[in-house]
Amino acid sequence: MGKIYDVIIIGAGPAGMTAAIYAKRAELETLLIEKNFMGGGQILNTYEIDNFPGFKGYNGFDLGQKFSEHVDELGVERISEEVRSVELAGEIKTIWTEEAEYQTKTVVLATGASPKKLGAPGEEKLSGTGVSYCATCDGAFFKNKITVVIGGGDVAVEDAIFLARGCEKVYLVHRRNELRATKSLQTALFQTPNIECVWDSVAVEILGDTQVSGIRLKNVKTEAESELKVDGVFVAVGNEPNNAWFTGEALKGDGVELDKGGFVIAGEDGVTSLPGVFVAGDLRSKRLRQVATAVGDGANVITSVTDYLTESAS
Ligand code: NAP
Repeated sequence: MGKIYDVIIIGAGPAGMTAAIYAKRAELETLLIEKNFMGGGQILNTYEIDNFPGFKGYNGFDLGQKFSEHVDELGVERISEEVRSVELAGEIKTIWTEEAEYQTKTVVLATGASPKKLGAPGEEKLSGTGVSYCATCDGAFFKNKITVVIGGGDVAVEDAIFLARGCEKVYLVHRRNELRATKSLQTALFQTPNIECVWDSVAVEILGDTQVSGIRLKNVKTEAESELKVDGVFVAVGNEPNNAWFTGEALKGDGVELDKGGFVIAGEDGVTSLPGVFVAGDLRSKRLRQVATAVGDGANVITSVTDYLTESAS
């Protein structure tokens, strides 16, 4: 049998890199696997991080580099390969990438989530130049401007209220005439004077050449189309977990328990339903998905990993 790691961490975003730092400092035989050449995860696409303590104004790419340098300085073994399939049940877990097979006593799932896209024309082209998937990250760029939030859940309503503090006006566009968001959030929304709700409407096109200039909407009841002049479009129609590599056909044997959205069920300790399998960061079923919470998860999860290794060795 070849080498058996103490822990293999899959995904090198803030959660995975923090887990790697803590694992190395705990003197665990650690391997960090990341499919992209660059580690960093979702923050690589964030212009400016304004809410990670000590790094105000940092570009997301630069913060990712800082995390990465820290991992490298500690001498963590890391590879750029995409995981294709896994066997997670049993004492020794096996990870197959397109190039090799790796074995480990524990696994940390840390591949994060991706915001759901609208799929509207203009969305991809203007992503980062007016189209955003994170109001807390990018809202400050739209001070005294006009923005639109798409969605009717808790995140959309929270985003609209958050944006309304700095924006001249915020539209909330929802595909039904009733919000999914909790009642208390709805009350706060309806009490905010510079928010206007546009009901029964979907985005059919995001307008602009190099910068967002507006949005074309369609009323789903009347089929009538209209345009709003806006500077920013915030898409808040839910998140998708990056779980394809450890579910469905990619999974041999038993898998971890998922919530109805496909996120891995675990508390802050990262302990999943399968012994020796842990989760950290945005992939975990939780409320707030931010760099700060991902970093916290990455630190916590290694305490759970070391406890598990100690118990299974005794
Ligand atoms: P969500 O609850 O799934 O809401 C997504 C919203 O987007 C829904 O209103 C949905 O419309 C709409 N939508 C989905 N696909 C769409 C499309 N293609 N075009 C237009 N609209 C679309 O997602 P979320 O708001 O991101 O929240 C995720 C989870 O975190 C939820 O469980 C939420 O309760 C939780 N959360 C809780 C809090 C809190 O407790 N304060 C804060 C944040 C998040 P329909 O309603 O018509 O389906």
